[in-house]
Amino acid sequence: MAKQNKEAYYQCVHCKQEIYWNTHKAFVECTCGKIAIDGCEDYVRVIGNMDDLKIINK
Ligand SMILES: [Zn+2]
Repeated sequence: MAKQNKEAYYQCVHCKQEIYWNTHKAFVECTCGKIAIDGCEDYVRVIGNMDDLKIINK
């Protein structure tokens, strides 16, 4: 698995919501439900189409 950028946010291109990569194993959906993130120190799972999200490095 690729090394995760620790400052990465996933932004939904539809509702523009930003979700921080580390959700502490919680399943966090954006407000429109197109993408969801489930992440912790060990893994980050991105649910949704890659066309529906942008990765933002802050
Ligand atoms: Zn959305």
